[in-house]
Amino acid sequence: EAGNSLAQTRYFVRSNSLDHSYSRMSERKDADVPLVNNWINGKWVPPSTNEYLDVISPSTKKVIAKVALSGPEDVQAAVDVAKKAFEIWGSWPVKKRVVPIIKLHSLLIDNYSKIIEIIMLEHGKNRAEAYGEIAKANETVEWAMSLPQLIQGRVLEVSTGVECKEIRMPVGVCANIVPFNFPAMVPFWTLPICIACGNCYILKPSEKVPLTMQFIAGLIKEAGVPDGVFQIVNGAIPVVNALCDSPGIDCVSFVGSSKVAEIVAKRCRALNKRVLALGGAKNHLVSMPDCDIELAAQDIVNSYSGCSGQRCMAASTLLTVGDQPDLLKAIVEKSKQLTPGCEARQLGPVIDQAAIDRISMYIEKSVAEGATLLLDGRSWMNNKNGYYIGATIIQHTNPKDSALHVEIFGPVLSVLKVNSREEAVAFENANPYGNAAAVYTTKGEHAQWFQTRFSAGMIGVNIGVPVPREPFSFGGCNKSKFGDFDITGDGAMEFFTLRRKITTKWAAPKERTWLN
Ligand code: NAD
Repeated sequence: EAGNSLAQTRYFVRSNSLDHSYSRMSERKDADVPLVNNWINGKWVPPSTNEYLDVISPSTKKVIAKVALSGPEDVQAAVDVAKKAFEIWGSWPVKKRVVPIIKLHSLLIDNYSKIIEIIMLEHGKNRAEAYGEIAKANETVEWAMSLPQLIQGRVLEVSTGVECKEIRMPVGVCANIVPFNFPAMVPFWTLPICIACGNCYILKPSEKVPLTMQFIAGLIKEAGVPDGVFQIVNGAIPVVNALCDSPGIDCVSFVGSSKVAEIVAKRCRALNKRVLALGGAKNHLVSMPDCDIELAAQDIVNSYSGCSGQRCMAASTLLTVGDQPDLLKAIVEKSKQLTPGCEARQLGPVIDQAAIDRISMYIEKSVAEGATLLLDGRSWMNNKNGYYIGATIIQHTNPKDSALHVEIFGPVLSVLKVNSREEAVAFENANPYGNAAAVYTTKGEHAQWFQTRFSAGMIGVNIGVPVPREPFSFGGCNKSKFGDFDITGDGAMEFFTLRRKITTKWAAPKERTWLN
């Protein structure tokens, strides 16, 4: 499980500077980095704690900003504003609410290059991955733009003169807590749909990557979303706890590790609060002997090493049905061509030193357990400029090896040979997560067989990152999701609205001429 480390220095800052634009930020020196404060009622406000945490760029190891470590008082301030804003925003017709959402779509496109730079700076993704992230975020905006066509209720005369009508009401004030690995895309899984449904939205970004949404907050305001409808409270655990516990928050969505997803879900459910908490993953790929080697090898490399393996949809375990030396050779050869860096086709750094320590520990442990390294990426760890670790492929013979069972969250592929498709499915089914699984085959019969037998919620056929795109919703099962809805698409509309049922009867007219 990817852990959350607060190992950086904490700061108590007296400054009350409110200007934190990205352009100003890039002009400042390391010693005078910008503060990332809270976005409350359309203004940047310092946290009541006056406490800040270093934000470190994984590709330079330099401090690039200091992010507010807010407390419950800051959450309360955002909730008070959101409740007021909701009285107006929640009463607007949906056609009026999507007007700023439509504007936001084009503002994002106009600012793609700036957003890509910020994602690369604070997260370390390569340029193509950062572009993919913001483009995917904007697809959710597109779906939200169509809400007037999607959100209407239904009506039926259920008995003579009696009509039942169902309309979708906003839930109220919604909190959204997100992980570090997609600074823009994961907030956008919920943001546009949540507000277009008439809710007010309070975001708690990951304290490791707060800059992207800081920049986008300005675009949301420029698009015409009224102050208080979208707010940001930065910080760590105390903010998450306060968001879950606040009586002013009506629903909570969370994306992050399973350990924290479960905590958040239990905390909210104890208060009968609507909650959707997506957790971690351990995704399995199965290669059948009939697979197209070139297609499968390239896709498997993309899946396990893309975004440096820091994706909840990344391949983690490859189960080969029988010996497949040619496939493994092709995967190793393609992986060897990866170089460290942040341009397209390069492998970016992982988020921090804690990630390097965790990933290298599992590689070491695998060797100690008797596995063979087909490719060892640990030589990249000496890179002084960033938190790099190269693509690593581990051939296991013991199905009990720890690397086959934990979420490593780095560019590591664990390979295990199984003897049949039944054995492959049994191995996948036995893992406690349930995000993604994929099969590589040229036979429709195998594809069909696996689709209904894998336990994961999102299945790929010849595609190792099977992310359902709009209009479909995203969501796994088992330990990968605590909650009953999916995120994005119509699952998100369901989550962010309450179905109000209205039954109407009028006195029957004396003259029933209306029937003619
Ligand atoms: P994380 O669980 O450490 O942090 C997620 C959020 O929770 C952050 O905002 C963090 O500040 C907060 N948090 C951390 N520890 C907490 C605690 N003890 N109590 C309350 N709040 C806490 O996750 P991460 O390391 O930022 O992200 C990586 C994880 O997210 C991986 O496990 C990955 O699989 C998962 N993830 C899942 C999906 C999905 O769709 N299922 C998508 C992206 C990432």
